[in-house]
Amino acid sequence: MRHMSVDRNSGFWNEPEETMSKEHKKRLDNKNLVAIFKHAYNNSPFYKKLYKNAGLTTADIKSVDDLPKIPLITKPELQEAQKKDPPFGGLLATPLNKLSEIFISPGPIYEGGMPEEDEKLLDAGAKAAYSCGIRPGDIVQNTFLYHLVPAGLGMHLALRRLGCAVVPVGIGQTVYQAIIMKDLGCTAYTGTPSFLAMIGEEAKKGGIDPLKDLKLEVGFFTAEPLPDILRKHLENTFGIMARQMYGTADVGGISRECPEVSGMHLEETLIVELIDPKTLEPVAPGEEGDVTVTLPHKYASPFIRFRTGDGSVLSEEKCGCGRTSPKLMRILGRVDQLVKVKGMFVHPINIKTTIQKHPELGNYEATVDRPELSDVLTIKIEFEGTGKTLPKNINEAKKVLVDEFKENIRVKAEVELVPKGSIKETKEKIIDLRKLD
Ligand SMILES: [Zn+2]
Repeated sequence: MRHMSVDRNSGFWNEPEETMSKEHKKRLDNKNLVAIFKHAYNNSPFYKKLYKNAGLTTADIKSVDDLPKIPLITKPELQEAQKKDPPFGGLLATPLNKLSEIFISPGPIYEGGMPEEDEKLLDAGAKAAYSCGIRPGDIVQNTFLYHLVPAGLGMHLALRRLGCAVVPVGIGQTVYQAIIMKDLGCTAYTGTPSFLAMIGEEAKKGGIDPLKDLKLEVGFFTAEPLPDILRKHLENTFGIMARQMYGTADVGGISRECPEVSGMHLEETLIVELIDPKTLEPVAPGEEGDVTVTLPHKYASPFIRFRTGDGSVLSEEKCGCGRTSPKLMRILGRVDQLVKVKGMFVHPINIKTTIQKHPELGNYEATVDRPELSDVLTIKIEFEGTGKTLPKNINEAKKVLVDEFKENIRVKAEVELVPKGSIKETKEKIIDLRKLD
């Protein structure tokens, strides 16, 4: 690691919030949950219908203890609602003329943003960047996408709030990225880790030594997993501190690393639950569950009890950095949650929805590989030719499924049908076999 120009390993962006007690946090959550629930119920046709059908009124939610009463939502459900009732599917809970932006998350999901809510979300972004070592005065090369999705603009505004100078490069133009980084003496990078690795390769090819010619001190990554091997590679190549945040395209940042680099602290203003994917009940501490979030400060397009589909384990052990929010210890199946195949985002839930339609199908396994130049998505499924919903003949059944997947996930998949009992258990994810380079 190179010599750091400032102390990047101590302090807080918002100390009272980052060190609040459990009791304080619960009081805050109670207040926030009641408010966002009421807002969504009264202003979003989607939520109103969902909650009415569940027999709920606004008076039923008084504190976080009432969370289990509130129906969970998933991304495919939001997609379905928007398909039926375009463009927002009744999700918008604020008048159109009050929106500051309309984002399009992969899916696609249309989402509105508005100034008041942005304020709190930007604080969360600044807090996460600070926790991961970015400091006021840094020159940050922001390589997140600036169009369609909230990533680039959201990170940009959060870094501005933190007091950084942002270079709004966005993704792409790898060769030019290395030159900009050198010319401007950028001290921090925000983006995906694999993209920084590519910039490193391009820099070397162009005669730029990432250690000697660049001034990069921090890499703040998200949107992709950061396996140890990649973290070390980037730290060695650039001499940086490599830190990460975990979030999803729809809800933004959920948790971030701290100087201890052992798990990721939950964003303090979010209400996060870990849910057993089978029983849909909250899991006991230390057990694996689906990360489920409620965003109290997203009033334009509320997300209440949104199942991310990512598995994790929560730790409430005291952290050496002084932050008191629990930590997500690892994100399971993160690589496999939303995978880009031939340029399209594919979600394992889309695969599962198709499979669940047919009782003659059993466990399945999905993989994506790039044997030559193009991605190949293979879905291997247990099949029993009972003829209930699919042709009895294996080849005909296969044809039907190929078409259904094409319709549902918009990517042509290779379908393999195998006898029941040949796949041990369903992996609720797409296994990515592609190499990074
Ligand atoms: Zn910590």
